[in-house]
Amino acid sequence: MPVISASAFNHTVTERFLRYVVIDTQSDASSPTCPSSEKQKDLGRLLASELKVMGLADAHLDEHGYVYATIPANTDKKVPVICFCSHMDTSPDCTGRNVKPQIVKSYRGGDIALPADPAQVIRVAEHPELENQIGNDIITTDGTTLLGADNKAGIAEIMDAAYFLINNPNVKHGAIKILFTPDEEIGRGVDKVDLKKLGADFAYTIDGETAGHVEDETFSADGATITIEGVSTHPGFAKGKMEHAIKIAAAIVDRLPKDTCSPETTEDKEGFLHPIGISGALEQATIGFIVRDFTDHGLKQKERLLESIVKDVMKDYPRSTCRMEVREQYRNMKQVIDLHPEIVDYAIEAIRRTGLEPHRGSIRGGTDGSRLSFMGLPCPNIFAGEHAFHSRLEWVSRQDMEKAVQTIVHLATIWEERA
Ligand SMILES: [Zn+2]
Repeated sequence: MPVISASAFNHTVTERFLRYVVIDTQSDASSPTCPSSEKQKDLGRLLASELKVMGLADAHLDEHGYVYATIPANTDKKVPVICFCSHMDTSPDCTGRNVKPQIVKSYRGGDIALPADPAQVIRVAEHPELENQIGNDIITTDGTTLLGADNKAGIAEIMDAAYFLINNPNVKHGAIKILFTPDEEIGRGVDKVDLKKLGADFAYTIDGETAGHVEDETFSADGATITIEGVSTHPGFAKGKMEHAIKIAAAIVDRLPKDTCSPETTEDKEGFLHPIGISGALEQATIGFIVRDFTDHGLKQKERLLESIVKDVMKDYPRSTCRMEVREQYRNMKQVIDLHPEIVDYAIEAIRRTGLEPHRGSIRGGTDGSRLSFMGLPCPNIFAGEHAFHSRLEWVSRQDMEKAVQTIVHLATIWEERA
């Protein structure tokens, strides 16, 4: 096994990261275009040009805002083509305009107050992961915006790993694909991806939290819409006639389980049934739900529960009607990834070679990887070091980013060794 010592790395990932986070790439769920916000292409153009300067001849930003590039193989072995993937957009939940990153050098422990807003304090009590960062350099914002480590940490890490591989031809690897996507935060990250053009066999998103973690499981997800048609009459002459759609909708929401099955009462491997929107008037009302579970069986169970609540409520409104539509959103990627156990095994070995304790886990959400896996590109998620994402308290450490770079490089070499 060729040993690549930690000192062989460039330690330029932080500079890259600081260059990318100042570019506003917030996505916009209300926009129908791809990318949903044109400004995401500002970062895409920069990344494509930096990759070209590194010597990746095919690097380009396409019309939909995706960046593709290939690090050519430097081995005669036939190695599966691996792709590393991160997303360029930041969450619409928190502003990403005018990000001013700060570095707490050699963190000595304790809460971190953000300079531009005294109300914003990263407290150890709420972010216990800080206790493992003593002596590290911690990057935060000034407290007025998110940082965008989700997922620009992953982008910087992939870019730095590419730079290392290109400049160390003695480190053998197969062809490696780089993919940067727009609009992940609004669930549209792979809508316009061209998997044929990408030409990868297996992929990894670099979008996880704590150093050493790899995740091969996500929620399975459906959306459900309930549409209620009530009976409207003039309110002055409504006795015994009116059936109010808003009140029917409220009765349905009121009968949802109170102590289980909701985001606020579940954790780990428990799923939930979660109303995300309600609108209506006397005649018609709709309730939007998301349904989440780790198994298809659990998902169906929750949908049957919702159906039975609706049926039960409707007994009190004999002249009104109600229909429930369920749409598939994404499925637990483990179903696909388990068919190729080496994908996660190699990632665990790469994390170990980086000097970290590997930790295999699951995500209470979806990733680009959950959809990519079902589109034919099995794709677990590896840590990027990002913490407290989608908030002004977001932070990442330089040392964790450097470990992610090393993990990516080791992973590329392990695929070559085992081929
Ligand atoms: Zn992300």
